[in-house]
Amino acid sequence: MTKIGLEIHCQLTNLESKLFCPCKANYREYEPNTNICPICIGLPGSLPRLNQKAIEKASMIAMALNCSTPEKIAFFRKNYFYPDLPKNFQITQLNIYGDTSIGGLGYTMVGEKKIRITRVQLEEDPGRLIYEGSSSKNQTTLVDYNRAGTPLVEIVTEPDFENPKQVREFLNILSDLLQNLGVSDPSLEGAMRADANVSIEGGNKVEIKNIGSFHDLEKAIHFEITRQESLYSRNIPIVQETRHWDDRRKITISARSKEEELDYRYFLEGDIPWIRIDKDTQERLQKEMPESISSKKDRYVSKYGIPAQVADVLSSDKFYSDLFEQSHNEKNAKEIANIITTDLMGLVDTREKREQSKFTSKHLEELADAIQSGKITRNSAKNALYEIVKTGKDLTQIIAELDLGNVSDESEIEKIINEVISQEPQAVEQAKKNPQTINYLVGKVMQKTKGKADPKLTLDLLKNKIK
Ligand SMILES: [Zn+2]
Repeated sequence: MTKIGLEIHCQLTNLESKLFCPCKANYREYEPNTNICPICIGLPGSLPRLNQKAIEKASMIAMALNCSTPEKIAFFRKNYFYPDLPKNFQITQLNIYGDTSIGGLGYTMVGEKKIRITRVQLEEDPGRLIYEGSSSKNQTTLVDYNRAGTPLVEIVTEPDFENPKQVREFLNILSDLLQNLGVSDPSLEGAMRADANVSIEGGNKVEIKNIGSFHDLEKAIHFEITRQESLYSRNIPIVQETRHWDDRRKITISARSKEEELDYRYFLEGDIPWIRIDKDTQERLQKEMPESISSKKDRYVSKYGIPAQVADVLSSDKFYSDLFEQSHNEKNAKEIANIITTDLMGLVDTREKREQSKFTSKHLEELADAIQSGKITRNSAKNALYEIVKTGKDLTQIIAELDLGNVSDESEIEKIINEVISQEPQAVEQAKKNPQTINYLVGKVMQKTKGKADPKLTLDLLKNKIK
């Protein structure tokens, strides 16, 4: 049996400042080594100043993952020597004196499968190493400390996954959850990274490190399972080790033998006291938490009658559910859900497109009203939305400019229907025998009016003519 466990690192990208100093948490916009201060580059005599917001947001993540939340938490020093770690230790958490990490045992559901969460801990991200040069001989390593000290939440799971697909589904759920909580934007490069433990047939555990994307994680686990199965079938022992994912060759390669916890010489971080998160604070945080994705979904279905599948898509992405919340009312909710999930999602499916797009929630409202009042057809609305996203222009202006207004003038539609009837004698005969096929003729009228003929009126008029 295959067992897979994960360690996921999520940056709290939406915070203002780093975990222990006032430097910006959003380090990505800065020239290398300009978003630094004596604290995050570990100059002697500097002392950490704990970011209260980071504690609160990490607590919320733990709560959203159904974890127990201890009333007292502690920080530890994890000692190791590496160029990306200016202090030569990382401030992190450890459950050595009982549960003192920000989140204890929890779980999350992946479909019917329960994935247990071992713990959630808050720690600082190290700096970034950048390797330059193509061959291993001519390699220069550069270090950028802008990222050093960025707040990072580590989520450790039990080895409950049975295949890479479950892992992928879990990560998608987790990514949506973090976004919904407003704590992190997982689409930013490096905002979510994962290590995986893989074992088969009760054998030794192999850790795969260094995986930057969900897609690669799935591939790396696939590769590792196949590698272990091949060894197992030939009776070759599987060594407990750490392997790195080689992004270019798409294989895992053996790295150092894994350090034991003891090697890190953990000890309590004496410069940060134990932190108390009392029941009142926990209750306040619980209240401040945004509505969960599943509760949103249920509400969309029960209150507005939105189909479950549409509600699922709408609620799981914060960007779209925020838009829906801002634009809908009881009357237009279904229409707006429809516009977002069938048309808008295709137009702004990447971060760049979202940033460049010019539409607002007001546009969606106007569009839904125009469809509902029969001013434009759904088909024209699609064209209008394309224009709105591109230009941000007012809907009325776009309808006029592109001549998208509905043709609801009876005599005008009748004229076109007569044309269609004379051009399509066979289809007319068929429609007389089998009324279902009349839709073909409706389609022809739509074609001639570029999708602008009022569909209901067209159908009624056609039925009258073909009897
Ligand atoms: Zn700093």
